[in-house]
Amino acid sequence: MNFSLTPEQEQIRDAIEKICTPFDADYWLRKDREGGFPDDFHRALADSGWLGIAMPEEHGGAGLGISEAALMMHTIAATGAGLSGASAVHMNIFGLHPVVVFGTDEQKRRWLPPLIQGRDRACFGVTEPNTGLNTLKLKTRAVREGDHYVVHGQKVWISTAQVANKILLLARTTPIEDSEGTEGLSLFYTDLDRTKVEVREIEKLGRKCVDSNQVFIDGLRIPVEDRVGEEGKGFSYILHGLNPERILIASEAIGLGRAALKRAAGYANEREVFGRPIGMNQGIQHPLAKSWMELEAAHLMVQKAAWLYDQHLPCGAEANSAKFLAAEACYSACENAIFTHGGMGYAKEYHVERYLREAWIPRLAPVSPQLILCFIAEKVLGLPKSY
Ligand SMILES: Cc1cc2nc3c(=O)[nH]c(=O)nc-3n(C[C@H](O)[C@H](O)[C@H](O)COP(=O)(O)OP(=O)(O)OC[C@H]3O[C@@H](n4cnc5c(N)ncnc54)[C@H](O)[C@@H]3O)c2cc1C
Repeated sequence: MNFSLTPEQEQIRDAIEKICTPFDADYWLRKDREGGFPDDFHRALADSGWLGIAMPEEHGGAGLGISEAALMMHTIAATGAGLSGASAVHMNIFGLHPVVVFGTDEQKRRWLPPLIQGRDRACFGVTEPNTGLNTLKLKTRAVREGDHYVVHGQKVWISTAQVANKILLLARTTPIEDSEGTEGLSLFYTDLDRTKVEVREIEKLGRKCVDSNQVFIDGLRIPVEDRVGEEGKGFSYILHGLNPERILIASEAIGLGRAALKRAAGYANEREVFGRPIGMNQGIQHPLAKSWMELEAAHLMVQKAAWLYDQHLPCGAEANSAKFLAAEACYSACENAIFTHGGMGYAKEYHVERYLREAWIPRLAPVSPQLILCFIAEKVLGLPKSY
């Protein structure tokens, strides 16, 4: 077993760190205060080709695996860009995976290059206000009329919908009472036509510069050629993207947790109280040491899940566990970083309170910790399905 980065992976890490350097802590603090999508950051990554890290080479991507994509997202978050930086590009990295796997050649030629070049920006429209995690019951309806579908419905929490011109949309094409098993939902990748779609930003706890929204769809017309794969099989298509997404967000969480830990250790060495650095006290040292171990252990699970995925082996248990463990380790590291800073941990200029607010995101999304525990209990331990 080899835990070292390959020379290629080292190059990826170094290149991403270099791109992130001008986007320093003050930049992200300003973005956190003022909001506004980090266009210049997104553009810097797009211009150097990184948005296509995991996209097929024949469409302008680098054709690398989830291990490399996870390394990239970890590096972005760990520079201090945190979830603000990672979420600005997250959807580009693996969001269109169902299109890569199930799209036609014509669709891939049409959709992937503009996304990789940063000319198109996509959002991901699954969650609905009245169905939550019970995705199979979603209500947004797409009705076929000749060579178009006409869509009515409502989505919630859709990130980057303020700046996106495209949406990957899951909608019901068969009425719920006629749907069997996982069938009845279809997947579309189409223009976010703002004459038919209203996007209302949700005020939220953190990551102000990457918007999340309520989305009201009223008569959106989607050409049939914008449907991905067969009608009715959309849910099974998005399942293909779920494990990589969990691996990526887990990796982002580890990066954010490590950024917090670095700030905490730096402050603990510098800050003197009772005539000595606060870092001499075991009460300060031990929580930080514990966070280091938790982040390392969670990172091993992330790497295992990524490796399994890249070997085309089943990785559901590992990808979900990685997301769970990484999010919890990240949250705890951010909390310990605030304690280490004492009162100053609560001041925005020390950055760690921002990290803690962002640490909630990998805990809550794209799936809750409770549902991950339910999944492991059922699929790994063979216990009865509880939901
Ligand atoms: C910052 C942010 C960005 C997001 N971006 C996107 C996006 O771009 N696109 C998108 O489609 N979605 C997005 N989401 C939505 C996110 O994926 C959902 O919030 C998440 O899946 C949980 O769904 P819900 O909020 O409807 O929770 P609910 O389904 O309402 O669940 C509420 C709580 O009840 C618990 N619960 C429910 N049923 C059970 C059960 N049987 N057993 C135990 N516990 C249970 C859940 O675990 C959870 O804690 C985002 C969310 C956030 C916070």
